[in-house]
Amino acid sequence: EGAPLGSSVISLVNKLQDIFSRVGSQSTIDLPQVAVVGSQSSGKSSVLEALVGRDFLPRGNEICTRRPLVLQLVHTPPSQSESAEFLHLPGRTFYDFSQIRAEIQAETDREAGGNKGVSDKQIRLKIFSPNVLDITLVDLPGITKVPVGDQPSDIEARIRTMIMSYIKVPTCLILAVTPANSDLANSDALQMAGNADPDGHRTIGVITKLDIMDRGTDARNLLLGKIIPLRLGYVGVVNRSQEDILVNRTIKEALIAEEKFFRNHPIYSGLADSCGVPQLAKKLNKILAQHIKAVLPGLKARISTSLVTLAKEHASYGEITESKAGQGALVLNILSKYCDAFSSMVEGKNEAMSTS
Ligand code: GDP
Ligand code: MG
Repeated sequence: EGAPLGSSVISLVNKLQDIFSRVGSQSTIDLPQVAVVGSQSSGKSSVLEALVGRDFLPRGNEICTRRPLVLQLVHTPPSQSESAEFLHLPGRTFYDFSQIRAEIQAETDREAGGNKGVSDKQIRLKIFSPNVLDITLVDLPGITKVPVGDQPSDIEARIRTMIMSYIKVPTCLILAVTPANSDLANSDALQMAGNADPDGHRTIGVITKLDIMDRGTDARNLLLGKIIPLRLGYVGVVNRSQEDILVNRTIKEALIAEEKFFRNHPIYSGLADSCGVPQLAKKLNKILAQHIKAVLPGLKARISTSLVTLAKEHASYGEITESKAGQGALVLNILSKYCDAFSSMVEGKNEAMSTS
C-alpha cells in the first residue's frame, strides 16, 4: 500500500532530513526532478499516477494534459493526513483527490481555454503525504502533429519547445513513454530524450499498453533493448485502460491486475526485472540512491565546515561548546553510516535495509 515510488529510499532520506533539521542545519538533499515525455495518449499521466499511488491526474483518450503540471511531493509526519495545495489557490487545502483532478481541469481551462488549447504556463501542485519522499514530478502535454480545436498551426513545434525546456536540465530524470502498440523507431519520446540526453545517463524507457499489442506480437526484444538500446534500459507497464477509467477502477486494483498479467504471460513472466510499475519505481529508486550517494560527501563537508564556524563563534563568546561539538560529531558519524547504506542500496545488496 501507499506510494511505490521511493518507498525504499523514503525512510533513509527522511531520516537524514530529520537529523539535519534537529541540529538546525540548512543542508538538505535536493533530489532530481522527474519528467515524462511522449506522444499524446501514450500513457504519461497514467504512469505518473501509478508511481505516486493516487488517483488525481486528468487522463483520457484525447488531449488531457494541456499545461505542464509541476507536482511537488512533500513528506509529512505519519500523524498528518494526505492533503494538497495549488499555488494558484493559496490558503485552500484539498483532502479529496478527485477534487484535485477537477481543479487541475478547471485551472487548465482558465488558462488554455475549453477547446483543446495548450499553454506553457505551469500548474503547481504540492501533495503532502507521509508516504512520499521530497521529489518533484512533472507531467507534460504530449506531442501532437495535427492541430485540433483552438490549437495553433505550429502546435507540434510549440509543445516540443515546452518539453525540451524541462528535459534539457542536466539533473532531470526522463521517463520516455512509448506505447507498445506503436513503432519504437517512430517514438517521439525516445527521439526527444535522445536530443536532451544523448549519453542516455538519465533516460528510462517506459513501454505502456503491453496488454493491447497486436495478437501474435510481443515486446520482448524491445524491453531487452535489442531494438533501440538505452543505457538505463526499459520497463514495460500495464496501466488502466479507458474502460477502467470509466468504471473507476482503482490504482490498487490496477496494480494487482498488472502483476497478474505479467505473472501469467508466457514471455513477460521470464522478464520480471523489466516489467511492472513496481520495477519502474525500483529503477527510479536506484537512480535516486545513486544521486544521494554522490551528493553525500559534499554535504558532509559542508556540515563539517559549518560546525567549525559554529565552534569558533561559541569559543569567541567563551561558552562551553561540548554539547554542540558532540552533536556535530554525532551527525557526521550518522552521515557516514548513511553513505554506506546508500552505497549498498546502489549495489543492490540490501534492498530491505532497516533504518532504525
Ligand atoms: P497521456 O496523454 O500520455 O498522459 O496518456 P494518458 O495517461 O492520459 O492515457 C491515455 C489513454 O490511454 C487513456 O485512455 C488510458 O486509459 C490509456 N492507457 C494508458 N496506458 C495504458 C495501458 O498500459 N494499457 C491500456 N489498455 N490503456 C492504457
Ligand atoms: Mg497526460
